[in-house]
Amino acid sequence: MFSSIFAEIKKIKENFEFVSREEREARKGGKGGEPIFRMVEAERVHSNLLCIIPASLILFLVEICGMIWTIANKIDFDYGKGFLISCSVFTLVSILFICIIEKKLKDPDFSLKQKRRIYRAFWVIFSLSAMSFSIMELLDRGTVNNFLCFVFLFTVLPVIEPFSKTIVLVISFLTEDIIMVAAKIYDPDIILLCFVAVLIASVASYVMFFRYMNTKITEKRLEHFANGDQLTMLTNRRGFASFAPELKRYCEKNSLKLLVIMADIDDFKKYNDTYGHVEGDICLKNVAAKIRENFSRSTDVCARYGGEEFIILSAFKEDGKILAHIKQLLSDVENTHNKGGSNVTVSLGVCISENPSKIELGELIKFADKELYNAKMNGKNCFSYKGEIYKN
Ligand code: GH3
Ligand code: MG
Ligand code: MG
Repeated sequence: MFSSIFAEIKKIKENFEFVSREEREARKGGKGGEPIFRMVEAERVHSNLLCIIPASLILFLVEICGMIWTIANKIDFDYGKGFLISCSVFTLVSILFICIIEKKLKDPDFSLKQKRRIYRAFWVIFSLSAMSFSIMELLDRGTVNNFLCFVFLFTVLPVIEPFSKTIVLVISFLTEDIIMVAAKIYDPDIILLCFVAVLIASVASYVMFFRYMNTKITEKRLEHFANGDQLTMLTNRRGFASFAPELKRYCEKNSLKLLVIMADIDDFKKYNDTYGHVEGDICLKNVAAKIRENFSRSTDVCARYGGEEFIILSAFKEDGKILAHIKQLLSDVENTHNKGGSNVTVSLGVCISENPSKIELGELIKFADKELYNAKMNGKNCFSYKGEIYKN
């Protein structure tokens, strides 16, 4: 059963998105058409939260054992029942939370920051209910039952890695024992002791978990910048090397076709020589923006491959309109306003793989490259597909 849970976790981990949050915002018009990075945002933090399931099950078992023990020793039955009720409530809340998170994970507009907000809200509810449970039980029966809250707080929320999770579990067991022993020896105000224990657990879990989340967000940002090209704001070669195989795998899994386009600006050296490199840079940005505009779906990857060369990968089902779509890119670039009213054009090499699992990505790029050469040989401002030239 645990293996199926972990298989589920793995599946969700693979559930990636091909666009950054900035891009999604830009598409909605949130950033006024500013150039933005185009890259995969693989969010891998969340699934650790699913450890709630095994944690809940462990606690259920512990509670059932406790109940059997209380019945066998003819200890007040209410005590065991109280355990069971509180545990059920916590488990239900946890599972409900998982359902919400899982649903949200499939939502492409769900960012790490939003996730952190949800976790925070959950943490508040959880801590408050843990504290109130411990107090209620103490007031009711005068017994120490902070164990449940304690273990839950430590296992469910903050600790992400399985190893540290185990350590914290052991620590919480020990703490529980120490509290029990201390209570027996010193007979202090047991309610206060229990409340303080849960309070400490809450604060500790908060600090650990949110420090973890903040680190993840920072990591994500750094990754974002490392994979982006600063001039065109497209994905750079480094980013392309990691996103392209992911997109190919995505196509294989979902039986999609993979389109590869190599693009090269025509006579760009001449443009640079005529208007200077600063204007050349602006022109590069404009062309990149047109490429992104035309390939802006979540399953498109646009990257700056070299100086004035770009590569586009796109996953799609039908190819009925794809050639018209590529023609549109040609005319969009041609109609972009450039220095001195000059028309900047691009040549494209197009290659489509009907079954991406049967071919290496490198091979596809090579084919697209050959087609690009063919387009250049045939007068530029056109694209070549299967050796045929298409012009507007
Ligand atoms: P073709 O139509 O055959 O592609 O000719 P081309 O002149 O575009 O090709 P070539 O390879 O001769 O020249 C590429 C030029 O791209 C040379 C280089 O100065 C320019 N270039 C490369 N990277 C940048 C950049 O980041 N900024 C600017 N302004 N120019 C760049
Ligand atoms: Mg070139
Ligand atoms: Mg060129």
